[in-house]
Amino acid sequence: MARKVLGYIQLIWTCSYCGTKNPGAIKSCTQCGSPQAPDIQFEKVDAESFDFIKDEALIRMAQKGADKHCPYCGTRNNIDAETCLKCGGDLTIDAKVRESGATIETRANNQKSFAPQKRPQPFLIIILLVGIVGFVFLIRNLTRTDQVSAVVSAVSWQRSQVIEAYQRVERKGWEDAIPSDATLVSCELQYRYDSDASRPIATEVCGEPYTIDTGTGLGQVVQDCVYRVYENYCTYTIMDWLPVETLVSSGVDLSPYWPTFELANDQRTGNRTERYEITYSAAGDSFTYSTTNESLYLQAQPGSSWLLEINQFNSVISAEPVQ
Ligand SMILES: [Zn+2]
Ligand SMILES: [Zn+2]
Repeated sequence: MARKVLGYIQLIWTCSYCGTKNPGAIKSCTQCGSPQAPDIQFEKVDAESFDFIKDEALIRMAQKGADKHCPYCGTRNNIDAETCLKCGGDLTIDAKVRESGATIETRANNQKSFAPQKRPQPFLIIILLVGIVGFVFLIRNLTRTDQVSAVVSAVSWQRSQVIEAYQRVERKGWEDAIPSDATLVSCELQYRYDSDASRPIATEVCGEPYTIDTGTGLGQVVQDCVYRVYENYCTYTIMDWLPVETLVSSGVDLSPYWPTFELANDQRTGNRTERYEITYSAAGDSFTYSTTNESLYLQAQPGSSWLLEINQFNSVISAEPVQ
């Protein structure tokens, strides 16, 4: 986020002795002559509008740095002053520099910060706690398992093999990330990221102006801005391996085999998967166990006895043959 200076405005301060509102650049009260105490803050004259100062000398003074308070009489003096403009005291030692850099809130914002804050409702916390306890119980119940003796009633298997071909495919991506061997189809500008610095194609987006205390009685009006950067997002084509066919073999016996194929010149084998299903019967119930474990599947002779672990959804978690 880049901070942009829009200009400088006159602030005011209120005399703590007589209540007079004084222009910010004036260092002692125009009514009673009291110095502005270090803890008396500057305020905005008008919360809504900015009346920018045109006096270059005044602006240069504000840019030099926050005023400092005389260690003897407390009077505000310019940062580069060596002796106090009121009492003539030495300002090179122990002069206290005013705080600066804080945002000067408008009166409307000040009122907002005194609005009553919403407290979290006690009954919402109770509902949340009950929910957490219930959830823990649910998880404990769902993770409970039962052991069941069962007999194999049926088996089935399926194996699949993906065939890939080298071919021209369409892709999309940012222009600077397109591979050098690609063929460009078309590009269009799209928003990519925010930047503090301007880029060839960017739109500047700025927030609401606000005022910063310079410690000199002048406020620096700034805006936080960011550049929304647009870049070319393109469609291109490139040669790549893509799946073109999935060969499947299946059966209901204990002799699984891989699909057979012959590859063309521009083809290669891709992923292959295997899935085995064993169906069991146990006391009138039927359970099916799916696995990719071939050696376990090959032991599933119909009629053989197995020990199953069943979860609360009646799914088989694990199965092993009883020797
Ligand atoms: Zn006064
Ligand atoms: Zn002084």
